[in-house]
Amino acid sequence: MILLDRITKTYGNKGPALERINLHVEAKEFVVIVGQSGAGKSTLLKLLTREEKPTSGKIIVGGVDYERLKDKDVPFLRRKIGVVFQDFKLLSNRTVFENVAFALEIVGMSNREIRHTVPKVLEIVGLKGKGDNYPSELSGGERQRVAIARAIVRQPKILIADEPTGNLDPKHAWDVIRVLEKINKYGTTVLLTTHNQEIVDKLRRRVVTISDGKVVSDKAGATYK
Ligand code: ADP
Repeated sequence: MILLDRITKTYGNKGPALERINLHVEAKEFVVIVGQSGAGKSTLLKLLTREEKPTSGKIIVGGVDYERLKDKDVPFLRRKIGVVFQDFKLLSNRTVFENVAFALEIVGMSNREIRHTVPKVLEIVGLKGKGDNYPSELSGGERQRVAIARAIVRQPKILIADEPTGNLDPKHAWDVIRVLEKINKYGTTVLLTTHNQEIVDKLRRRVVTISDGKVVSDKAGATYK
């Protein structure tokens, strides 16, 4: 599903942000990526979404070899990969429904289908009945779940969650993690980066640790250290 083969990424003339990274993630896996600030986690995720290109090495996602990917194909690739960020990135002047619907409008889905699809996704993330609210009327945890709804509404094969709980208190953080687990159970591959040791320890998933641009450990059912 995801294959990184000897990936090196260098920005400008600095030392490599990632150095000869190998990573293989099967379909439907849930992988937690940990590492200190500056370790290279975001760079790794940006290579997968094609926001950045590797300096050397091979990336294959869902059978697509990134070396052969043309710029015009990148939007199609991005439909297969949903992304959520620490700071939610919601549109503040649109309702919850409109925020999620927007992801479908831009791929040309009919209004009828949108009205059918969005409530189903809001139900999955536990926000049934919140469609008419604006983001400012929601808690941080609820906002993050709107962002997750928007990321999964086009049914991506992979969901990337980059520090999704970084701005949340523990209760809301767990609400978000439970939603990620549910989405994974439905068959989506999940890549999660987090600094939250308690979440890593309780999840007991595969943990890939990155330090100074290298994978220093990769263990199933692991704790933080
Ligand atoms: P993490 O997500 O683990 O905090 P990053 O992938 O953001 O780590 O950063 C890894 C290294 O690459 C850091 O040294 C950082 O300063 C550098 N870096 C990240 N993005 C850029 C960029 N756009 N330009 C130059 N250097 C960058």
